[in-house]
Formats: sequence, C-alpha cells, structure tokens
Amino acid sequence: MTEFTLNPISINRRAICHASWKLENKHLGANRRYLSREHAAAKWVAEEFLRLDRYVPKTEFTAKIAKNGELVTKEMLKGAKLWLDLISPMEPAKKKWVEQSNLQMFIRSISEKCNGTVDYFLFHKAAHKLYIYKYDFGFTPIVAERNLELIEYASGIMDSLAKNKDWNGLHEIEIEFNVVQPRDYVSKEGAHKQWTVCSIDLIKYFEALRLIEQRVVTATDYKYKISKECSHCPVRHLCPALQDAATMIVDLTAQEAPEGLGGVTLSTELRVLKNAQDMLKARITGLESQVEAMLFRGDSVPYFSLEAGRGSKQWTVPAEEVEVLGQVYGVEGLLKPQDVVTPLQAIDAGLPKEVVDQYTKVFKGKMKLTQTSTLESKTLFGGDK
Ligand code: SF4
Repeated sequence: MTEFTLNPISINRRAICHASWKLENKHLGANRRYLSREHAAAKWVAEEFLRLDRYVPKTEFTAKIAKNGELVTKEMLKGAKLWLDLISPMEPAKKKWVEQSNLQMFIRSISEKCNGTVDYFLFHKAAHKLYIYKYDFGFTPIVAERNLELIEYASGIMDSLAKNKDWNGLHEIEIEFNVVQPRDYVSKEGAHKQWTVCSIDLIKYFEALRLIEQRVVTATDYKYKISKECSHCPVRHLCPALQDAATMIVDLTAQEAPEGLGGVTLSTELRVLKNAQDMLKARITGLESQVEAMLFRGDSVPYFSLEAGRGSKQWTVPAEEVEVLGQVYGVEGLLKPQDVVTPLQAIDAGLPKEVVDQYTKVFKGKMKLTQTSTLESKTLFGGDK
C-alpha cells in the first residue's frame, strides 16, 4: 500500500491548491520525485562535503559522478563549498549541541502524514538557539523569512528535542532559518538568506499549517487553484484546471487588441498576459516531460520525436599539444588569446573586494521593462508617476 505523505517541500503549493496533493497521490503515489536529477546530485555533493569535513577530516572530495549517476559539475562543487563554509564553523561540542544533517522526520505536531527530510539543523542548548538550513540548487529565489517548509521542520525538530533531556525547561528559544541557494542571482541578499525569530512567534504559523494540512487531507473535492506554484507541480500535465486555463489563454491571445489603449488598460492587459505566459509555460513543460517519458519508453507520440542534439567537436588533447600540432603544420593562432575572469569570479577566487572595486566600474545595463507590486510607475527620466 502506498504511503501518502505531506512533504514540507511542497507546502507552498498545498497551501494554495488543495487538489495538487490528491492528484499527486492518485497518479504518482510513492513514485513522487521532488527534485530534478541535477538538483539531487548537487545536494548529494553538499552532503558529502559536510560528511567528510565532520567525520573524515583532511579527506578531499574526489567523486566525478554523484550517487544518482549525474556528472559532478564545477558549479555543484562551488555551491557545496559555500554550504560547507557556512556550516563548518559551527563546531558541535558533545552534549551541548545537537546536530543532524539530511534527517528524515515525521512532523506529527503538524499532521500525522507530514514527513520530510531536513537538510541540516543544529541546536545550541546554552545559547537557546536552533539553526535550520536548507540547500537549494534552483534558480527561482527562495526566501528564508516565513518559509513554510522550514517552519514545518522547526515544528518537527522542536517535537524531537522536547523528548530529549537537553531540551528540558526550554520553552522559548531563538530560531535562525537559513536558505543557501548558490544559483540565486536575483535576491538582494544573494546566495545566503536568513531569518531569525523567537519560537513563541512561530506558534501562529504552526497553527495555520496544521489547518492547511488538515484541509488538504480531509477535503473530499478537488479544489484547483492556479498560481505560480503550478510551474513546479509534478502533476501539471494531468491538471484539468491548468488545461482549461491554457486553452482559454490561447483563445484570448487570438483576439485582436484594440488600438490606443491607455496606461491603466495596457498595464492590466500586460500583467494578465504575463501571468498567462507563466501558466502556459507550466502546462507546456508538464506535457513535454510526459511526452519525453513516453518516447523514452518506446511509445509513439504523433508529431514528436526524440533526437540527439548536434554535439560540438572537442579537443581530446591538452592545449599545449594543439599548439605543437600548429607548429608542425605551420598553422598559427590555434590558441585563444588569454582572457580574464569576471570581477565576481575574481572575488570568489580570493582577490579582496576592495581591490576589485578600485579596478572596476558598474556600467548601466540596457533599459528593461520590469513588473512591480505597486501602482507607482517610474518613467524613463526617473520620476515617479
Ligand atoms: S497544476 Fe496548479 S492547479 Fe493544477 S494541481 Fe498543480 S498546483 Fe493545482
């Protein structure tokens, strides 16, 4: 019998759309996969970095292939280093600290079915402080503040600590939530986001999460709600609401737009269409993955086929040998002129930021249309209207 769980990783989607969990259970059951293969591999590399640092000191990470068979890339190594640099300094001292990484836990205080794997936590008894970390290899920024997934884990960790004598007498603690996301190039905070809150202030969130999960489990109807969360929903290819919305959008885009629309009307239509674009993208990527899976199985899908992309020819010998070849055949210019890395890469490599600042300048990028959450509008000349 399939074990149905409410995984904290998808709580944001469940909070908006009750039907997603029911549809996932009906069609995916225990086969649900929450992370892409690349993401899972990057997480494994980060876990390995921490494991080696804690338990096998002075051992270099040398794996070229991750546990799931994916290639270990330079980007994964760089992300894992950031993860380790943040966690490693917190040396746990026996009996005064409780530390766990990659721990699967039931979070019964939220729901009997709530079950997931927290990436890392550390409880410091003397400081009355709990640190919770999430590692994410995606591009879509994830916030630390009011992060429902991490709040569910906080509830689970506090449950298990309550059974431990180390916890006795501690009712009010500080909790520091951390999201480490090496590919977040958008957030102002960068790749490490943090939120600190008192456990008492989380009680209202625990209560709200209990109600959400209860409603998800006990609802007898399928109430779909389309939102940005659809783009990561694993059943988006089967979702009737997304299908209806996509069809409606196609009809809408076929209509002729009246000429001479005013600013407000233009803004409304542009925002509607941009949201529609997200929905269409969610529907298209969902269908694409289903079609790819069918073609891999050998099923035929009219008008679609799987073809290997055109690979590029690569040298199989080092650059020096290519240069020698050039000398033998009298051909010049086989080596590219040397180039420098970007200023950010130079800072990453260890050049002090103050030094880099002296030799660099920020050039204004191309003007770009961005959507804001307020009524205010900034004109080309910088004034607010
Ligand atoms: S695609 Fe969107 S509306 Fe459909 S089940 Fe998933 S989250 Fe709900």
